[in-house]
Amino acid sequence: MGFFKKMVQPIVNNAKGKAGERKVNSKLNPLIFDATYNKTINNLMLVDRYGNSHQIDHVEIRSNGIFCIETKNYAGIIYGDEEREKWVQVLGNLKHEHNNPIRQNKSHIRQLERVLGPSYKVNSLVVMVQNNADKIDVPYVVNLDDLKHYLAHYDDGTKYNRKEIDGIYETLKAAASRTVSSREHVKSIKENQKKIDKGICPRCNGKLVLRNGRNGEFYGCSNYPNCKFTVNK
Ligand SMILES: [Zn+2]
Repeated sequence: MGFFKKMVQPIVNNAKGKAGERKVNSKLNPLIFDATYNKTINNLMLVDRYGNSHQIDHVEIRSNGIFCIETKNYAGIIYGDEEREKWVQVLGNLKHEHNNPIRQNKSHIRQLERVLGPSYKVNSLVVMVQNNADKIDVPYVVNLDDLKHYLAHYDDGTKYNRKEIDGIYETLKAAASRTVSSREHVKSIKENQKKIDKGICPRCNGKLVLRNGRNGEFYGCSNYPNCKFTVNK
């Protein structure tokens, strides 16, 4: 297919992505949904059991469901479907390919469902910020202008009350803060190791000296007995 041959590397435009998230965020503003109780989490970061982090643009929790929202701020004409690995962006004479956001969102949803447990269903929603979803024939890929309508009218029989919505929100927020603290933990372990490698005590910044113990040699802090830090040789 000649169409695919001309493709160049995907453009990663972070600033543009952030602007798109802000636009969606303004559409998700609770004021717009004054009749419906809802909670929105922006930029939810979760780490899976393999240590990979998943950054989720928006999670919208409403009486009619939980929505995992991926925003795409692409210009031009976008071609894509559910299965194809890449989506194609046509900008004048140029074609770019991007990872299929539906697939990306699936892995995000798996993380949300892992945190929430099997009794909660998380719905996928991809929002095209530049309102160019018309060539993508997937019901849950919507234009930004249709987002409000889509959320308001979505109905798969789910009904959450205020208490459940708050519970889901708190559970996800707690998982995210565990993620942050586990990352900080890993970071501090790495920083400690760097100091140790340089012969510096990570606890008091004293010098590490080689000592002889019952079980052989080890490194201990030169400020012993005030600092009892030791590390195996
Ligand atoms: Zn020390």
